[in-house]
Amino acid sequence: MIAQNPVFIPGPTNIPEVIRRACDLPTIDHRSPFFASVLHPAIDGVRKVLKQSNGETYMIPGTGTGGWETAIANTLSPGDGILAARNGMFSHKWIDMCKRFGLDVTQIDVTWGEGLPVARYEEILRADKDGKIKAVLATHNETATGVVSDIAGVRKALDAAGHGALLLVDGVSSIGSMPFEFDEWRVDVAVTGSQKGFMLPAGLAIIGFSDKAVAASKTARLPRTYFSIDDMRKGYAANGYPYTPPVGLFNGLKLSTEMLLAEGLDNVFARHARIAGGIRAAVNAWGMKLCAVRPELYSNTVTAIRTPEGFDAGRVVAHAHKDYAMAFGAGLGDVAGKVFRIGHLGMMTDSMALSGIATVEMVMADLGLDITLGSGVAAAQAVYRKGVTEKRMAA
Ligand code: PLP
Repeated sequence: MIAQNPVFIPGPTNIPEVIRRACDLPTIDHRSPFFASVLHPAIDGVRKVLKQSNGETYMIPGTGTGGWETAIANTLSPGDGILAARNGMFSHKWIDMCKRFGLDVTQIDVTWGEGLPVARYEEILRADKDGKIKAVLATHNETATGVVSDIAGVRKALDAAGHGALLLVDGVSSIGSMPFEFDEWRVDVAVTGSQKGFMLPAGLAIIGFSDKAVAASKTARLPRTYFSIDDMRKGYAANGYPYTPPVGLFNGLKLSTEMLLAEGLDNVFARHARIAGGIRAAVNAWGMKLCAVRPELYSNTVTAIRTPEGFDAGRVVAHAHKDYAMAFGAGLGDVAGKVFRIGHLGMMTDSMALSGIATVEMVMADLGLDITLGSGVAAAQAVYRKGVTEKRMAA
């Protein structure tokens, strides 16, 4: 049997049926007016979700990793200085990409479970009197550890240091599910992928460039072809594309942005906050600890849960998959075997979350962990019922 259970990995996320159908198009000539009629509304919708009013926005066949490369290759030159903190697998991988591009990375190593060290960023930027650092990387939501960082704080650090570096933000597992303020935070490049908050299959890197980042691209010397925003700009202006685009994904993206905006971004964020609150209540009822070390770091899209010392967290994921046909996220890198992750972003409801909590409870009990069946479910139910009461009272 092919499982129809929801997935609880932190992307790719569950896909609403209407979006799945919108992606499922017959072959359509991408040079026909139909593509333009999808492309431009999709761009407008994405910009509203990013809260981006300046600069340019591109969707490029690829994934979040392609988005990282688009950000770097278009704005930087060989040997440019980069400031970045490594607080999880994804910040690690973006740093690794910068090194492979021959960029000169000042790396701050942070305990996994911590957020970006804003004060340290400021110190290093203040000390960079010659302006060697050309870009600051910031992973908004570290999917490996379930940690959200303070991007407004990183912007303040740049301003306080009077430093003109570009602010490049990985919003892969936050955009469309948690508050993201391109304009207000003066983000220079924002990166995401279609398969997270936009609830689509994997296949599109989504990247917003500020006016300042677009200006930087005019002199940046790293080579780029496939990810060139100059080529993209020319293609879009001619109502087309520099190469063959996945038309169905663009059609799905147009619908996805319409759905997010119709629900209302604040409502989308509140839904994610409530669902995450229920999951954290369940973790607390199980007597377990999060990887994120402080409440202000708790992510509303992914929860990484530490298993007891000496217990391989990978067993939870493997057993859930094998016996209950349900997918959870494994621990990655430094926290491999130490945490398992519940992804709760994109198309997710209170009731879907309860099915994940109930399943993981069975899994942990099966594996001999000291879990009272129903304890996490009851704790989450209390959070979700309170949410319903509050909604009724507000109506
Ligand atoms: N950045 C973050 C925060 C992610 O969670 C991921 C993937 O999960 C990526 C980047 C890489 O994106 P992709 O796997 O779509 O290339």
